[in-house]
Amino acid sequence: MSSILIINTGGTIGMTKSDRGYIPNPEKFRENLNKMPELSDFGICGWNIIDMNPLLDSSNMTVEDWNKIGEIVDQNYERYDGFVILHGTDTMAYTASALSFMFENLGKPVVITGSQIPICEIRSDGKDNIIAAMMIASSGKVNEVCIYFRGELLRGNRAIKYSADGFMAFKSPNAPPLAEAGITINYNEAILLPKPEGEFSFQKLDNIPIGVIKVFPGIQFDLFSNIMTESLKGVVLETFGAGNIPSHAKSLLPIIEKAFNNGTVVTVCTQCPQGTVLLGAYETSNSLKAAGAVSGKDMTTEAAIAKMYYLFSKGYDTGAICKLMETNLRGEL
Ligand code: ASP
Repeated sequence: MSSILIINTGGTIGMTKSDRGYIPNPEKFRENLNKMPELSDFGICGWNIIDMNPLLDSSNMTVEDWNKIGEIVDQNYERYDGFVILHGTDTMAYTASALSFMFENLGKPVVITGSQIPICEIRSDGKDNIIAAMMIASSGKVNEVCIYFRGELLRGNRAIKYSADGFMAFKSPNAPPLAEAGITINYNEAILLPKPEGEFSFQKLDNIPIGVIKVFPGIQFDLFSNIMTESLKGVVLETFGAGNIPSHAKSLLPIIEKAFNNGTVVTVCTQCPQGTVLLGAYETSNSLKAAGAVSGKDMTTEAAIAKMYYLFSKGYDTGAICKLMETNLRGEL
């Protein structure tokens, strides 16, 4: 029987109502897990659980917390066949993206899940999410960081939180699900990442200064000029469609050029959940390319942010980072 380590980081799944709103309640959560026959009598797998301290609403998740989660996996990598991370839904896609880069040569499943309704409540979606995540983590088929939610296993660095209140809370619009859980769990074997040949290692992240700018009609780019200093290492520019910005926004290009000369990596992503950036396809995006911006192609903003944290933490120079942003590292492109 395989053995799984559950890492409880917090989130709605383990919360109870208080007079200040929902808050993490590890004792009640443990009591509920122990009451689930699927996790004891039916013997899906052997499991242990580690609670992070403190348990977090995932809106409070920081780079330091990603490092703590990563360290727990790193320290227990040889001891377990797979890992299930319980996490709030709000920043789950960011954590999944970050961990996907931090774990190099990952040869075991890391399945992140949570729920929209706490497990102690009658209509909770948490029970199915945990059980299926544990079955997937013990299947021996997955060698990557993924999100399991409401019947779908998604590549972690392709996922976005799609619904604030629906049970189907996540989507990966640019990549098909890695598995679908109906009556049986059907894996999409053709797209699962293969077991890597190299040895597993873990890259901690530094708290790199990164910004995100979303373009909108009427945007006054000169307002951003002051933040484009040498201390800003990376910017994700969320553009229209295939990477377009307003042509009349002449003030943007000197700003991008200034950023480029400062060594800031400007990555162009799209505001569209589905599809890819094609820099140079339109006149309105050509100038970005000429000013030194790199294409985020079909990467999510979450993945682009995580990838910049990772590449800067690795200590690469700006030229190498620009090249690697456009190179597929973990299935994110
Ligand atoms: N605010 C919660 C969190 O992200 C929401 C959730 O878990 O669904 O921790």
